[in-house]
Amino acid sequence: MIPMESCNTQACQSAREIFHELEEYYDDHNLYFQTIGSVLEAATALNVPHRLKLILTQPKNEIMVHFPVQMDDGTWQLFKGYRVQHNNVLGPYKGGIRYHPEVKLDEVKTLSLLMTMKCALARLPFGGAKGALKIDPRGVSQHELMRVTRRLTAALGENIGPDYDIPAPDVGTNSQVMAWMADTYINFSGSSHKVTARSVVTGKPLEFGGSAGRDKATGQGLVYVLDALLPDMGIKLNESTCSLIGYGNVGSWTARLLQQRGTTLKAVMDHTGAIFNEAGIDAEALAQHVQTTGGVKDYAEAQAISNETFYATPVDLFIPAALEQMVDLEHAKHIQCKVLVEGANAPTTPHAERYLLDKGVEVLPAILCNAGGVTVSYFEWKQNRQSETWDEELVDERLKKTMTRSAERVLAMAKQLDCNMRIASYASAIEHINKVYDLRGVFP
Ligand code: NAD
Repeated sequence: MIPMESCNTQACQSAREIFHELEEYYDDHNLYFQTIGSVLEAATALNVPHRLKLILTQPKNEIMVHFPVQMDDGTWQLFKGYRVQHNNVLGPYKGGIRYHPEVKLDEVKTLSLLMTMKCALARLPFGGAKGALKIDPRGVSQHELMRVTRRLTAALGENIGPDYDIPAPDVGTNSQVMAWMADTYINFSGSSHKVTARSVVTGKPLEFGGSAGRDKATGQGLVYVLDALLPDMGIKLNESTCSLIGYGNVGSWTARLLQQRGTTLKAVMDHTGAIFNEAGIDAEALAQHVQTTGGVKDYAEAQAISNETFYATPVDLFIPAALEQMVDLEHAKHIQCKVLVEGANAPTTPHAERYLLDKGVEVLPAILCNAGGVTVSYFEWKQNRQSETWDEELVDERLKKTMTRSAERVLAMAKQLDCNMRIASYASAIEHINKVYDLRGVFP
């Protein structure tokens, strides 16, 4: 997941300087340093106080836990969990929990930083965090998954809470995992806190305090961003074509919602393989196939293609919606699209982005495109605390407003600073964070 490209961009230079000042380790090839580099580039363009750059450069807390769990066959396994809390000046820490066998601390740090930026850009009253557990969720039974999840929640203890740090689903976790986390947390809570205690996590099942529209929220938000930005680029959704990396929550919902708007899905790649159909792939039928078989491989209504052919398939919208850094410079040289829409977090390496921008491809950054998930998570948290239940129309209406305003902010900032959309989106987020630090001051 860590890109191996040497870095001499302005972003990397900004990061190198600040880590030198902090007398801290720095590595050009590491995703965290590259990401903070772009954030610092935006901060420099905005001319914010140096203290804000120092504050944003490192997360506030990096929590690492280890705990044993007995497996179904009687053996014991030791698990490693992370929770990185990047910044909470805007409100409680907020961010997903990822279950993946190869997860590393720097990846979690990067994702927590992106959450700070994402919540600030959308003007949500949350800070940024991310959590992870080193586990292959497909390789354990449901009972094992439940015990591990309960033990992780207990290990995190007071480091999470409805007013302090609120996890949500991410890669490898889902509403069931959130239900186990909430139940465990409620069992540890005093009797007078049990009602609000369930808002310790969002992305819960509908029947247990979840919000209408949360499942599809990230894909829905991405479509609203395209609604706001594509007309100026001369692209009509109902005449467009797209390809997707990843057909999980974000990928499959994006595909289904775009299909409803008339977009043709030409190619999909996931961890099982890549498929193509010139006439279009039925997004609903493919979602059914993935649900049953676990991946896009062997879908009967499309032909299997190589990963190289997948990247080279000409489309209007190329949408990475899987893991980090899946579009590197080599891939970028083959990609033929008008817009790269980041559904996943940090899917594009800095060199790939530079190459694509130079070629005239627009790159829409993740903190704008995939903020629909955390936005509806905020709606869920709000509904839980007010004992309300909103219907899907209300959720969609409010989501659309949030996503459209964020897109407009990014456009305005891109004009003001004469910069690309990624730097503009970070700059708009930083502008907001800076105002709040000015108002609050820095303790003591
Ligand atoms: P998911 O677990 O539901 O799906 C992940 C997808 O990635 C799967 O289709 C899997 O096959 C694919 N994948 C994994 N390894 C791959 C590989 N080597 N090559 C190709 N495909 C591969 O996860 P998700 O919730 O859809 O999240 C996807 C991305 O979106 C992540 O970056 C996540 O952080 C981000 N995101 C998710 C949400 C959300 O609400 N779920 C919100 C914001 C951002």
